[in-house]
Amino acid sequence: MEKKVALLPGDGIGVEVMNAAVKLMHHVAAKYDLTIETSESLMGGCSYDAHGTPLTDETIELCYSSDAVLLGAVGGYKWEDLEHHLKPEAALLKLRKSLGLFTNIRPAKVYPSFVNSSSLKESAIIGTDFVVFRELTGGIYFGEPRGYDENKGYNTMVYEKYEIERIAHQAFKVAQKRKKILTSVDKANVLEVSQFWRKVVEEVSKEYPDVELSNMYVDNTAMQVVRDPKQFDVIVTSNLFGDIISDIAGMITGSLGMLPSASLGDKYALYEPVHGSAPDIAGENKANPIAMIASVGMMFDLSFGLQEAAILIDKAIEKTLDHGYRTADINLDDGNVVTTDRMADMIIKNFDIIYNENRESVFTL
Ligand code: NAD
Repeated sequence: MEKKVALLPGDGIGVEVMNAAVKLMHHVAAKYDLTIETSESLMGGCSYDAHGTPLTDETIELCYSSDAVLLGAVGGYKWEDLEHHLKPEAALLKLRKSLGLFTNIRPAKVYPSFVNSSSLKESAIIGTDFVVFRELTGGIYFGEPRGYDENKGYNTMVYEKYEIERIAHQAFKVAQKRKKILTSVDKANVLEVSQFWRKVVEEVSKEYPDVELSNMYVDNTAMQVVRDPKQFDVIVTSNLFGDIISDIAGMITGSLGMLPSASLGDKYALYEPVHGSAPDIAGENKANPIAMIASVGMMFDLSFGLQEAAILIDKAIEKTLDHGYRTADINLDDGNVVTTDRMADMIIKNFDIIYNENRESVFTL
């Protein structure tokens, strides 16, 4: 099997975690007779510096001609004062829109050996395993009018019915394969757009009678995710609320550096860590590559149909954490602090061990 993957490392630690994850990607692909042809392009601040725009048409074309897109992260202090449409972050919104990526999937899973490294109590987080479905191409990040003048600033939160329906269907379908519990998150006590969101999700729920649907206000959700994250299975919510809830979920797992994501549309798929470009630690080889590596795992599963590879990558991450390897951001339990590269190498090594054990057990059977 041959696949084309577009690599957009971006800025800051995006470049470092991408290098680490691509090494693992080729290593894993070789085990499954998969040849991955990669092409790299600039995006974000580095693209602005080179081309005067954070996202060129060539980069978008490259994504259109690829089977999957891997993105590091964009942004940094250097580009903070640019006009809105020239900022690195504008490229993210434009790319998601160009590729029609209307759903962002973010798993929040606590690895067993890692419970002591979270800032929350072990008893509260052990067994946490939920998925956040965040609407990605609508809502307040895109609504018009928007702007500010000397006297006021304003944005518009708007959702069309079809935008809510399509993400609700995806979330219900995944919930059917999991614990069949779906929580729709909104602010229906204050916002009309949320009242509409709730009405549409409830209509869609009639097609999934086996899934238990509940509605929760976003402020309560923020508290509940910290108080008792085990209650959640699948969460579906709008662009802005999902952005915040999934960052809170990041702290349950210990660090933003642990959270992978997939963004899916009807035709294209993009995989990226939840974290940003972390300019405070960029260039120091100390970024946590696990979120980027786990994003590659999601790509093997969702884009290439190699679920076994994804499971073994996840197990390799778990084993590496079990052995006490930590990047600085997750070293709350006096583990063995390693660099970005070393963490990735240990995960590759453990992947091989688990892969061989897996093959041996199949052979023995
Ligand atoms: P951030 O995620 O970059 O960093 C937040 C904190 O978490 C920092 O202290 C950072 O050092 C730490 N951190 C994040 N990822 C880490 C990793 N893999 N390993 C170790 N530590 C990690 O968020 P921010 O500081 O709010 O934003 C920095 C820049 O990134 C801004 O320009 C922002 O706009 C941009 N950003 C980009 C994306 C993206 O590309 N998808 C997402 C969020 C923020």
